[in-house]
Amino acid sequence: MGGRRGGGFRLVLLGAPGVGKGTQAAEITKRVGLAHVSTGDLLRAAIREGSPVGRKVAAIVDRGELVPDDVVGDVMAERLSRADAADGFLLDGFPRTIAQADLLDRLLAERGQTLDRVISIEVPEPEIFDRLTGRRWCARCGAVYHVRYGRPRVEGVCDRCGGELRQRSDDTEGVIRERLRAYREQTAPLIARYQKTGLLLTVDGRGRPDEVFGRIAAGIPGLGSRA
Ligand code: AMP
Repeated sequence: MGGRRGGGFRLVLLGAPGVGKGTQAAEITKRVGLAHVSTGDLLRAAIREGSPVGRKVAAIVDRGELVPDDVVGDVMAERLSRADAADGFLLDGFPRTIAQADLLDRLLAERGQTLDRVISIEVPEPEIFDRLTGRRWCARCGAVYHVRYGRPRVEGVCDRCGGELRQRSDDTEGVIRERLRAYREQTAPLIARYQKTGLLLTVDGRGRPDEVFGRIAAGIPGLGSRA
């Protein structure tokens, strides 16, 4: 692939909340050495730090609505300009609207870059509900657990860093409904857009994380072979 160093892939992960984007993103970026760019993580960090962006978006994120395109666009432009994104990246949770996809096209064109693949992970809504209401995460290192399917060795404590496990403030039933609505209305139309460009890889997100990863790797030559 023309003059690239390192992993070199430029990938997008699409999918409703709770389909396993974060889990798959961590696995893919670890294997091929890409920058993992999660707008959700960037926004949560901004909220934790109380930065101007964080103060602007905190209430919106808590309601499960999408943050305005210009705010998330600025966050993304800054993140993609950092050195570690030069050799490839995986976007997790961006773009989420048509306007954001247009912005991404512009940012890539400015850099003379193109996307390699857009991976859409699909899981039926009842299973998403079950996954999100039982999800717990470590606010210190970001590791994700589940009260039934992925329990830590010690209740309430992160296996990886010893941090305290919590429920995300937007993983409550009413907010999950709002996030799924935002996905259906604003993000799902991107699937047809990327289908038209021939970049789309649709993957069944049910089953164990390694099974889902196997499906992704089967569709992207070079991804599974560098473990
Ligand atoms: P996530 O961690 O991807 O589920 O994102 C958590 C929340 O952050 C979402 O419910 C939105 O409020 C906000 N968010 C994350 N990414 C975006 C984006 N690309 N556009 C707008 N809002 C976003």
